[in-house]
Amino acid sequence: GETSDSFAIEESLKELAQLADTAGLMVVGSTYQKLASPNPRTYIGSGKVAEIKSAIRAFEVETVIFDDELSPGQLRNLEKAFGGDVRVCDRTALILDIFNQRAATHEAALQASLRLFVALAQMEYQLPRLTKMWTHLERQAGGKVKGMGEKQIEVDKRILRTQIGVLKKELESVRKHRKQYRNRRFSVPVPVVSLVGYTNAGKSTLLNQLTGANVLSEDRLFATLDPTTRRVQMKNGSEFLLTDTVGFIQKLPTTLVAAFRATLEEISESSLLVHVVDISHPLAEQQIDAVEKVLAELAVSEIPKLMVWNKVDKVTDPEKIKLEAERREDIVCISALTGEGLLEFCNAVQEKLKDSMVPVEAFVP
Ligand code: GDP
Repeated sequence: GETSDSFAIEESLKELAQLADTAGLMVVGSTYQKLASPNPRTYIGSGKVAEIKSAIRAFEVETVIFDDELSPGQLRNLEKAFGGDVRVCDRTALILDIFNQRAATHEAALQASLRLFVALAQMEYQLPRLTKMWTHLERQAGGKVKGMGEKQIEVDKRILRTQIGVLKKELESVRKHRKQYRNRRFSVPVPVVSLVGYTNAGKSTLLNQLTGANVLSEDRLFATLDPTTRRVQMKNGSEFLLTDTVGFIQKLPTTLVAAFRATLEEISESSLLVHVVDISHPLAEQQIDAVEKVLAELAVSEIPKLMVWNKVDKVTDPEKIKLEAERREDIVCISALTGEGLLEFCNAVQEKLKDSMVPVEAFVP
């Protein structure tokens, strides 16, 4: 329907604004246009281009971000149309930027692989665009540099491919190292519980509340880019390791899907998956679907799951939500912020671990 379409677009743009904020940009406005198909030259229509241009002048805008992946040609045409030093980028480029910033601020060995994935994704993003850029330059020069451009493409491609090869090798060794580390960890028989969920669902907050660990928690997308593990000790003496994972996101650029999958490798070795949901979010159902789709791809169907409906302090009718959770199975309502339901959550985790392959008694020292 028309209205739900607009709603989805607006939600997606809101998410894009949050991503921009995470990247350190100040968002002054957003707009969209409904077209039967995107304009091949400029993605949006000429009227929209003019409208944005006047907004650029009015607000001294430095960056214009598009929610979809732009072709290299569209990028260039838009930059030309907006003029001056206005930078035009798409969702993919923005996410890559954030990955880069985040990866740069962490030095631990655990993050090394992430840095490599980002570099790899960036290069794979560049490779096809490189060709198009040179073809364009050639055309611009009226064919005068023909051949030269081609040669340059080959050189650039070779350099990129070599770098990609080096990165892949490095990545493989990091993976091996991490696997060894994980194996060593498993020689200590403590079950691993992985938190999964949509970005901003409250995974870091939950981890913090439970363990007093100092995991970064901000009202920003991608607050958690690095898997972080903490030990949770229960009053009855049993314990489990709680691992925070990367947040999931809709419309994940294809270049990054592989990176995500690899970062989530550790999930497949956990005893229990806890799917954290921001139940106060208007698109909670869609976010659940997005996460479950990725989980299905990870082939973790045999691992027990527990769903957590977080932020019950924020919903308008908490009683209705709680009744609904009771009606379904394996759902615990909590507020990671106020601490409501955390004990029930820990008990549910214990129950679930008992059900899993390895009896929980085996883990008690
Ligand atoms: P993550 O991306 O899943 O790790 O999400 P975060 O833990 O960083 O939380 C995202 C935002 O939601 C932060 O601003 C948190 O303060 C907020 N938040 C998390 N849990 C709750 C909750 O139970 N209630 C409310 N009202 N806000 C929460």
